[in-house]
Amino acid sequence: MEPARPALTDASRHRTPIRPLLAALVAVPVLVGTFLTVISTASAATTAIKGVGSGRCVEVPGSSQTNGTQVALRDCTGGANQTFNTTSSRQLQVYGTKCLNAAGGGTTAGTAVTIWDCNGSAGQQWNVNTDGTIRGVQSGLCLDATGAGTANGTLIVLWTCTGASNQQWTTTGGTNPTTTTTTPPAGTTPVARHGQLRVCGTTMCDRTGARVQLRGVSSFWLNWENPGYSQNLSALRWMRDNWNLQVIRAAMGVEPSGAYLSDPNRARAQVETIINNAVAAGVYVIVDYHAHEAHNSRSQAVAFFSDLARRYGHLPNVIWEPYNEPLQVSWTSVIKPYHQAVVSAIRAADPDNIIVLGTPNWSQGVDQAAASPVSGTNLMYTLHFYSCSHGSWLRDRGNTAIRAGLALFVTEWGASHADGGTDGRTCLPEAQAWIDWMRANGVSWTAWKLHTGSDSTNLLRAGAPVSGGWSNYLHGHAPFVVANMR
Ligand code: MG
Repeated sequence: MEPARPALTDASRHRTPIRPLLAALVAVPVLVGTFLTVISTASAATTAIKGVGSGRCVEVPGSSQTNGTQVALRDCTGGANQTFNTTSSRQLQVYGTKCLNAAGGGTTAGTAVTIWDCNGSAGQQWNVNTDGTIRGVQSGLCLDATGAGTANGTLIVLWTCTGASNQQWTTTGGTNPTTTTTTPPAGTTPVARHGQLRVCGTTMCDRTGARVQLRGVSSFWLNWENPGYSQNLSALRWMRDNWNLQVIRAAMGVEPSGAYLSDPNRARAQVETIINNAVAAGVYVIVDYHAHEAHNSRSQAVAFFSDLARRYGHLPNVIWEPYNEPLQVSWTSVIKPYHQAVVSAIRAADPDNIIVLGTPNWSQGVDQAAASPVSGTNLMYTLHFYSCSHGSWLRDRGNTAIRAGLALFVTEWGASHADGGTDGRTCLPEAQAWIDWMRANGVSWTAWKLHTGSDSTNLLRAGAPVSGGWSNYLHGHAPFVVANMR
């Protein structure tokens, strides 16, 4: 029987919890220690940042080392106050310890660009792009010489990207240095081992034809993510090396205020950061259009996937997920036509990467999809479970779908109630039954979610550093999730 699952309850799964820490913490052992170590040394590139419009360089005025000093244009001198190192964490570092920084973590046009002690925050991460722009990872805004100024002393701010010459910069360190300088050696990462994936029968195979079961974690809704765990390259490498993580899911919120529909540049920049990090770390990445009513913004979804497929579809790392969790709407007349539109947009640019299709009723209706599948190649279908709410009756639907020939991917699960565990409980025996079922059927998974708070699906405790090192920060169902990634 279908469990009552009001939309409000489901929505709460995704919001920052406000309840206190509960008993789930004591019900599970703390997992300590490290797994195999794969070291990828990032080589820093040194660069001046020279304005195309001005011919002048970004500098720290007066060679100041004071936190909060706003950077400005000045004749290029090659001095230390004009020399920036691009780091593996996408920072632009000056003097070895200070980083180019969005003042106050600001994400609005006009935010001053300053120097500050390097702290790994998303406001200190930058994408150096092939089109000459330098975009803030957190804001999606462009590094901008104020008022299109070209004179010495013109202050540098964040501004809406316009493509104008006061937002174009030449860098001697190259573009996107973190992806070009840190690609790990062959054979040492999940992507190096498995390469391009494809659907084979009802499961997933790698380039050699061997069956693959990917295991990893999902981000929190990116529009609510703070301080940016899923967007941090060091954290991704740490999860790969200590948790045996093979895939990360970038859950790009769509409908809430501040998410994709209202702030597309920021949302897309966050996703692109995670894609670039996944390339650098050699892990797979699911691009998740994290929506509950995506069929109401179909043209935006088609444009989004069309753009990203054109630019990233050649990468073996990328897996597309066009519709996280449709609600209780018709598969045949609403969801399937949406999928067909998005699939054909992706396939116009990317003929082969796997696409995982959301199913009715919070992605529990895989049996409905099985009765009328979407046509195309390398398509999989989404099944979500939360083990305090969903048991063998939902696995039976999964079995029905598999018997009908569908390949399934569990892009979200929790050892919790369907609301994400606002009561703090975990249901580990039922979760173990699901783990066993997924292993037996070669069903890949990403667990909900890389975030802090009292909900039992929050994997981290408050205070967890943004860059990894979380052995003493596991929370809720995290020890169970981590144990099963290995
Ligand atoms: Mg491809």
